[in-house]
Amino acid sequence: MGMITDIQRASLHDGYGLRTTVFFKGCPMSCMWCHNPECISFDKQLLYYPEKCIGCGKCDQGCYSGAKVVCGKEMTPDQVLFEILQDRPYYGDSGGVTFSGGEPFAQPDFLYECVKLCRSEGISTAAETSLVIYNEEILGELDFVMADLKVWDSDIHREYTGVGNEGILENFMKLNGLGIPVIARTPVIPEVDQGIEHISEFLQGLKSVIRYELLPYHPLGNAKRAALNQPAPGFTVPGKELMKELGRYAFIR
Ligand code: SF4
Ligand code: SF4
Repeated sequence: MGMITDIQRASLHDGYGLRTTVFFKGCPMSCMWCHNPECISFDKQLLYYPEKCIGCGKCDQGCYSGAKVVCGKEMTPDQVLFEILQDRPYYGDSGGVTFSGGEPFAQPDFLYECVKLCRSEGISTAAETSLVIYNEEILGELDFVMADLKVWDSDIHREYTGVGNEGILENFMKLNGLGIPVIARTPVIPEVDQGIEHISEFLQGLKSVIRYELLPYHPLGNAKRAALNQPAPGFTVPGKELMKELGRYAFIR
């Protein structure tokens, strides 16, 4: 059994082509800008959206207005595959499945079974990961990987994500040796000294990195943070000027 939060259909933002994205629940990191804060805890959680409450007083019977939502669902790999197979007719030549989260590699047995089942059906598989965990057996089964490198300085990385980045840099180098295409990404947070020029230089030295993308921070996760009774982090969305200036560090090979 694995714990997931959602299976999203027809995503155009999680790799090549049209993809089904499976969101795993739980992450060893705790990035302050995480736009899926409900995916950080490994446990089921209750999200409460007071604006949707109609005051029916029937909370003990389950909430039908969407005000109280239990986040986290246990599924078997076969159940996940069943959902994925509904989308297969739309994948075409480039689409497939992306395992995301949270950190999918934090549930290795479940992830491996899901990946193997997809491969046995001839479905393309990819993963979105922070590379805080490195599992060569699973990585070797994927068609490509989307990996984040968020901050260059390890102390600053720890301050904002809860962990230093030495292991992550090492894992990027190990992944380079596997020869799997890697799309590297950095979320741009204006308030954080991320050292994007150093990150770009490091990634340019890794042959497996086929592109490096800079993604503007989006406060998408704030509504979910409020529903989890957590404070908003207070970051701002980077302006077009900043994104344009940093754009020189992005690359495609
Ligand atoms: S069941 Fe939902 S809508 Fe009804 S009182 Fe409870 S939270 Fe509000
Ligand atoms: S690594 Fe990703 S999923 Fe985990 S806390 Fe950071 S942004 Fe969220």
